[in-house]
Amino acid sequence: MPPIDDPFVAVALGANQPSAAGSPRETLLAVRPLLEGLFTRWSAQQLRFCWSQLVETTPVGPVDQPDYLNAVVLVEGLKAPPSEAAALQLLDVLQGLEQQFGRDRSREQRWGPRSLDLDLLFWGELRLDHPRLVLPHPRLHLRTFVLAPLLEAMQGSAPP
Ligand code: ADP
Ligand code: MG
Repeated sequence: MPPIDDPFVAVALGANQPSAAGSPRETLLAVRPLLEGLFTRWSAQQLRFCWSQLVETTPVGPVDQPDYLNAVVLVEGLKAPPSEAAALQLLDVLQGLEQQFGRDRSREQRWGPRSLDLDLLFWGELRLDHPRLVLPHPRLHLRTFVLAPLLEAMQGSAPP
């Protein structure tokens, strides 16, 4: 586990439609270095990334859609304290990456199929109830497809 005073960020990834990178598996593998690069540039620091395995899961919401691939990454070593402004910047970064992989929110049904979904799960103990961003993620505790990879990433995460 990371030290308790290290306010790490947790991000959940999901995909069940092909993207320009290929299948959901190829998408989630292609996203990895890009996400690490974006976080590193955004923070202007050296960070540690702790990834879960990719897990195959059945969809919640509309059931007539393909299974998902999910993963969680922990981003450790951020020196800046968690804040609303910085968390909203992070959401912009993640949504930009979703778009890069073909996500078009204007044509989607809620919880319907998507080529890439990136959700901020939490950032340390920051609590937000902003129209664009709720932290911790309000459905985190209900989603085994998030909780299982989150636990795996946390168990794999070594102290610095
Ligand atoms: P979901 O991830 O629940 O399936 P979407 O990916 O379609 O839903 O996102 C819908 C909206 O949820 C986004 O436009 C975003 O502003 C908002 N949102 C609120 N809290 C969060 C969060 N913690 N992480 C990501 N998006 C969030
Ligand atoms: Mg989302």
